[in-house]
Amino acid sequence: MSADIIDGKAFAAKVREKVAGHVARLKEEHGIVPGLAVVLVGEDPASQVYVRSKGKQTVEVGMNSYEHKLDADTAEADLLALIDTLNNDPAVHGILVQLPLPKHLDEDLVINSINPAKDVDGFHISNVGLLGTGQKSMVPCTPLGCLMMLREHHGSLSGLDAVVIGRSNIVGKPMAQLLLGDSCTVTIAHSRTKDLPEVVRRADIVVAAVGRPEMVPGDWIKEGATVIDVGINRIERDGKNKLVGDVDFASAVERAGAITPVPGGVGPMTIACLLANTVTACCRANGLAEPEGLTA
Ligand code: NAD
Repeated sequence: MSADIIDGKAFAAKVREKVAGHVARLKEEHGIVPGLAVVLVGEDPASQVYVRSKGKQTVEVGMNSYEHKLDADTAEADLLALIDTLNNDPAVHGILVQLPLPKHLDEDLVINSINPAKDVDGFHISNVGLLGTGQKSMVPCTPLGCLMMLREHHGSLSGLDAVVIGRSNIVGKPMAQLLLGDSCTVTIAHSRTKDLPEVVRRADIVVAAVGRPEMVPGDWIKEGATVIDVGINRIERDGKNKLVGDVDFASAVERAGAITPVPGGVGPMTIACLLANTVTACCRANGLAEPEGLTA
């Protein structure tokens, strides 16, 4: 058996189309243009690529993009002052501070200074608490994208056994909360988990978010399970640079019922969900109905 390939690139295009439709309606019916402010501190090359891509896609769906590039040695007080300005700017509905920040800046302090209603990354402690208690929140983009793909593939997730490998605050933990919210029986596995292969073999849904190239082999996967591979790992193979996930795709595709590839799976969904969160934040800020299918 060869698994269905879940095409994240095509699905992300559909999400962006939905966002663009909603943005157009907001403009036409209410004269509102959603705005996303992205703050980049320093010159980390990967962060620069992400920020450029976020800005480009924001404009493509018809929203306003505000980029703030600060020097690597920016004082914490200056960064907090900028966030305060953005918090109070009615044209800005979403604020994203690109991580990681330079070492002299306190990431938790910075993230928690963002107005939670504008926290489109969903990392503010209030949003973490709201998600954990099943209340309306801003949901972190990568797990939101994974959830959307799982819902699209399965319809209802109720009662399914899900294993999330990885317990980070940005992927593993919120992913587990979202699956719990959809009534899965959830196990969070991590670096200290005993007998990880056995834990994974029980799962109808496996979400791998570890950051170790191809660490999950096909024989850990239950026949017919759905595999969501969040990992993005650069490796060299046959003298060429290659991107691979946390799952060994070649063997897992023979066991799984459905699987996301790397690249072209979870990756493209992350920015699409950032745009979705921005339009959601804009609707909430204006007391308008939220777009359907773009939130958890
Ligand atoms: P992280 O380093 O913060 O967390 C990794 C987690 O993996 C930890 O909780 C750790 O306990 C667990 N782990 C480490 N070794 C393990 C092992 N041997 N067995 C089981 N668990 C183990 O990473 P993160 O930020 O959650 O990212 C995970 C991966 O997802 C990375 O490859 C990252 O690049 C990728 N990622 C992709 C996107 C995307 O848009 N597709 C977004 C965020 C992260």
